Amino acid sequence: MTATDVKFGEYGGQYVPEALMPAIEELTDAYERYVLENEDGFMDEFRERLRDFGGRPTPLQYAEHLSERYDSEVYLKREDLLHGGAHKLNNALGQVLLAKYMGKERIVAETGAGQHGTATAMAAAHLGLPCEIYMGKRDINRQRPNVFRMKLNGSEVNPVTTGRGTLKEAISETMRDWATNVEDTHYVIGSVVGPAPFPAMVRDFQAVISEEAREQAIEQTGGVPDTVVACAGGGSNTMGTFANFVDDDGSDGGTRTDLVAVEAGGSSLSVDEEAGVAPNSASLSTGDEGVLHGARTKLLQDRDGQILESHSVSSGLDYAGVGPELAYLVDEGRVRAANVDDDAALAAFHRLSRLEGVIPALETAHAFAWADENRDELGEITVINVSGRGDKDLESVVQETEERDVEGAVDMGEVFH
Ligand SMILES: *Cc1c(COP(=O)(O)O)cnc(C)c1O
Repeated sequence: MTATDVKFGEYGGQYVPEALMPAIEELTDAYERYVLENEDGFMDEFRERLRDFGGRPTPLQYAEHLSERYDSEVYLKREDLLHGGAHKLNNALGQVLLAKYMGKERIVAETGAGQHGTATAMAAAHLGLPCEIYMGKRDINRQRPNVFRMKLNGSEVNPVTTGRGTLKEAISETMRDWATNVEDTHYVIGSVVGPAPFPAMVRDFQAVISEEAREQAIEQTGGVPDTVVACAGGGSNTMGTFANFVDDDGSDGGTRTDLVAVEAGGSSLSVDEEAGVAPNSASLSTGDEGVLHGARTKLLQDRDGQILESHSVSSGLDYAGVGPELAYLVDEGRVRAANVDDDAALAAFHRLSRLEGVIPALETAHAFAWADENRDELGEITVINVSGRGDKDLESVVQETEERDVEGAVDMGEVFH
């Protein structure tokens, strides 16, 4: 790991209690040896398991109807076809396997909507390690199917009742568990967030997305794409989708691939300081610098540095922070930060389902909504990452669609009433 992978400009770092430093150092050492240097064939085993258990490589699929609509050749990177239905397994499998190589005997993880928890539970069952997932009480009640999935895979689900009982508290609680049990336990963090080496390590596990996509694009279209779009919550599918394109910056006279990270604009970009609420999760676009969960990054916070309550119609994007490297790449001008609101994401959810026969996760729908609103800015060849499938969102989409006037939505009432 180079010094720039601990800090990304002013962002990143290791803002953790002293008790965690030995664990961080041990993990850094393991990351360098097994991931970066492929010691004991770690990366070979990781790739083999991603293939046989995960179903990789995922296709890069030409999307005929979107291409007509946008007058750009549009390709979908189908991470929704990965085992579990989202990109999250790439990271969970990598980290649980790393824990095994480190001789750890127990896995802990946090989860918000339950997607990372289910991916970690799957990986832990696959690799035969006991696993405990911390999840906010409120989220447990909102995400019952994912709680069942975790339990079916043999994981324990620990309710977190502090604060608002959501993701932020679940992360803090998991850090506490890790600090107490560092000797035998590994903490599988769910995105490119947290103290170093997590942001770089999670990026490297997710980079398989762009490693494949870049090769597939060259093979299928004869070159690298002009535009690559991904949605950003913590930023792990974004970093994974961008990683192998960052150097395609036009400096060698070749194509400059435009990288667009689409955040949740929620219901509004304005902030209610009084109530401590930002009705969005657009930390790249509207946040400012602060420290959260062990790293300096861009955050939704009030003037006193208190973290604001974030919001998005998609629970997987609902986080007040963002990965430090992504914040850095935006500041550097290599990645463009964009956002779309809840309504646009819902409309895109319906549109992609109808036009292409692909029902995306609500998180993913944000990337497609941006492409729709900015079709003039798409280059000749566009790759959009389908970070996950939408089965988990059907209930809430039907409900949200009934409550608002969503452009181009089918009338579900016709079916049910
Ligand atoms: C969790 C999730 C996200 C957001 O997380 P990132 O770390 O930003 O990738 C996006 N899409 C899907 C389908 C998810 O499950």
